[in-house]
Amino acid sequence: MKAIAVHPGVPNSMHLRDVPEPTLDQVPGGRGVLVEVLRVGVDGTDKEINAAEYGDAPDGHDYLITGHESLGRVVEVGPNVPTTIKPGTIVVASVRRPGTSVYDSIGLQDFTTDDVYFERGINKRHGYLCELYVEDFEYIVPLPPCLSETGVLLEPMTVAEKAVNQAYEIQRRLKVWQPRRAAVLGSGTVGLLTTLVMRLRGLEVVCLSLPKPPYRNSELIEELGATYVSTQDMSVAEAAAQYGPFDLIVEATGFSPLVWEAAQALGKNGVLMLVSVTGGERQVEIPSDMINQGFVLGNKVMAGSVNASPTDFTSGRDDLVKAYAFYPGWLEKLLTNPVEGLHNYEQMLSELTEATDAIKVYVQVAGVEHGATEVERDAAVV
Ligand code: BGC
Ligand code: ZN
Repeated sequence: MKAIAVHPGVPNSMHLRDVPEPTLDQVPGGRGVLVEVLRVGVDGTDKEINAAEYGDAPDGHDYLITGHESLGRVVEVGPNVPTTIKPGTIVVASVRRPGTSVYDSIGLQDFTTDDVYFERGINKRHGYLCELYVEDFEYIVPLPPCLSETGVLLEPMTVAEKAVNQAYEIQRRLKVWQPRRAAVLGSGTVGLLTTLVMRLRGLEVVCLSLPKPPYRNSELIEELGATYVSTQDMSVAEAAAQYGPFDLIVEATGFSPLVWEAAQALGKNGVLMLVSVTGGERQVEIPSDMINQGFVLGNKVMAGSVNASPTDFTSGRDDLVKAYAFYPGWLEKLLTNPVEGLHNYEQMLSELTEATDAIKVYVQVAGVEHGATEVERDAAVV
């Protein structure tokens, strides 16, 4: 079968290749699920992997099949797979796989303390940009039919979901935490989905982002009943004065200096969640006494969050379903940049790097001819 792969460590090595088809017996104990890939979303992580800034191949391989935002349909299951997952079921597979720490041993590999972590499509495990994959049912989340297209948003959704779920978990320390106002920094895919998750929790949400409104993302924010603020019109501190105090802030811009502005804008007893994976070496000067004192006297918390626990996948799935009830038509609008077929991986890369207004670039894998170029296919039709 065809797959999109890179040679980790070699910049711009993305290519289409033939790889062996997976089989059910590769998963021991009759626990295997064989899945036909329908579509796969791509994001900044894939861009970094192609730039050889991130990612590694599985041991013994000189290539890594990329793609970690999957959506598929079950083809075949082993005898010990629960009946909630059967041929025809729409599914998403999670990304992290267990290492050796105590957290890994209880299914919380997203909290691993190992130095090496295993992530399908990213680090040391092949991903989903191929025609079929096989996986242990433990890592497979079944979806209802209404998510047969937008379910590709579940993996990015779990970034938002884990951040918000962890915030609530952390705030159990307060016994009576009753958050009312929240801020999201960033209006990219994760910022949009975080705003959705917070609105579904009944919070008043302000989303701060660089571009001036109105434009597509600011309109999507307002459709959720949240407020969009351009940081060109108002600083984070001014927004906190006008719309705060913020009980919860999620930083999702990818621009780390904003973390310290968010830290200053956080309300008393508030929680600031960080989800941007910032690979650079940026440094800034900060008012450290003031931030420190605010955290001490205000009992504030700042926590990092990398996705995601199994419960974040199931609550993320449930929130996607809820989105259909509260905000019909909204999720579809996030699927902005489709790419037809694995063979168009170059177009996928250029949409990722050049389409700066893209919300979600994804590859439609099933239902298209793989390997044939546009010209060959046109010729075949003639
Ligand atoms: C993925 C996560 C992963 C993180 C770090 C993100 O793009 O969505 O699943 O944990 O990168 O590798
Ligand atoms: Zn990702």
